[in-house]
Amino acid sequence: MSRSLTILGSTGSVGTATIDVVRDNPSQFSVYALTANKNVTLLAQQAMEVKAQLAVIGDESLLPALKDALGDSGVKAAAGDAGLLEAASHPVDCTMAAIVGMAGLRPLMAAIANGKYVAIANKEPLVSAGDLVIRAAQKSGSTLLPVDSEHNAIFQVFEKDQKDKIHRIILTASGGPFRDAPLEKMEAATPEQALAHPNWSMGAKISIDSATMFNKALEVIEAHHLFGMPAEKIDVLLHPQSIIHSMVEYTDGSVLAQMGAPDMRVPITHALGWPNRLNGPAQRLDFSKISNLTFGAVDDRRFPAIKLAYDALKVGQAACIALNAANEVAVAAFLERKIGFMDIYKTVRQVVESCGNPSISGLDSVFDFDSRMRSAAQDFILNTTTLDRKVS
Ligand code: NDP
Repeated sequence: MSRSLTILGSTGSVGTATIDVVRDNPSQFSVYALTANKNVTLLAQQAMEVKAQLAVIGDESLLPALKDALGDSGVKAAAGDAGLLEAASHPVDCTMAAIVGMAGLRPLMAAIANGKYVAIANKEPLVSAGDLVIRAAQKSGSTLLPVDSEHNAIFQVFEKDQKDKIHRIILTASGGPFRDAPLEKMEAATPEQALAHPNWSMGAKISIDSATMFNKALEVIEAHHLFGMPAEKIDVLLHPQSIIHSMVEYTDGSVLAQMGAPDMRVPITHALGWPNRLNGPAQRLDFSKISNLTFGAVDDRRFPAIKLAYDALKVGQAACIALNAANEVAVAAFLERKIGFMDIYKTVRQVVESCGNPSISGLDSVFDFDSRMRSAAQDFILNTTTLDRKVS
């Protein structure tokens, strides 16, 4: 029987990989809605190909262009926040949440309120509002299926009924393009160099996050919420080949790992098929060509972001919101060449260290604090010269 599916963020890196999986399993899915922010051409093309009922463009000014591109295909068009919420809140069997950043939080919450299965790639809402997301799923009975390759790996080897026998979760990290780069080279890194990930092909924001290792920082917080594990039971391990996507160590000494090619279509296929297994379009691992799997510790001096995430978790939700908000702002500023690569960390640290610890309750309070932290990050960037940030 086919599953009804909505893909939030269908034109992005995870979104297009999700369309690949749908294309490979035509009888398994009937697509209800696809959404994008600005990419009208691809959105319309995808919607017509998968015979979606609804296509939504976030930027309202592009609604006429979307209607034009859809022509007389019969696909309904909508736009803006209301359109996104309309798409996300329509009851479907499965929603893929693949919008980037906090822009995905409201649609994600709407999908959780109505969906049976919600596949989550969009990690930022989990970092800033993890408790709210998990509680909403418990209330509606939605099953959250992690799509991030590390969390999907953990999900596959996490024995829920043996949770008290889990010694630790080990998140693997490729180390990104600057894994072995000296600090001086990182200080001078350009957006082009930072975007060139050695193993994964991804959207711009997560590619920069991988280069700073803020991606792993976000993933530590994401794992804490998704698996209900305390920070001290979550470790990060460098694994340059990106073959083992993460591991769970049990108290008897057994370590269970999930492996696969570094191809997001593996976790996406798993999440879309769960609890069954589908056929997937991803590359296969050829063990005869894998000469070695290596592991090591992360160098905190060059990649201080991860320690900041542990500190933020200790402080609480406000610090996690600050970390995510400041990082989104700083990554955008780096991509616009307004700040240097290592200034991303300096901006985030400054905002996290000065955010205080106000209590946050409810979605509006998350957005309110998030917006204040974005302003704090913008102010820091505007009022501090690169030289100041370098010596701080
Ligand atoms: P992309 O930048 O490639 O795609 C983002 C998608 O979200 C696009 O469809 C984009 O539309 C849409 N979008 C962007 N801004 C808005 C907005 N304000 N409102 C509504 N829609 C918006 O991102 P990725 O696919 O790389 O990542 C998506 C999420 O998944 C991120 O949270 C990331 O951290 C996570 N993730 C990604 C992985 C990857 O391999 N890429 C791996 C694991 C997790 P448009 O194209 O029109 O701009």
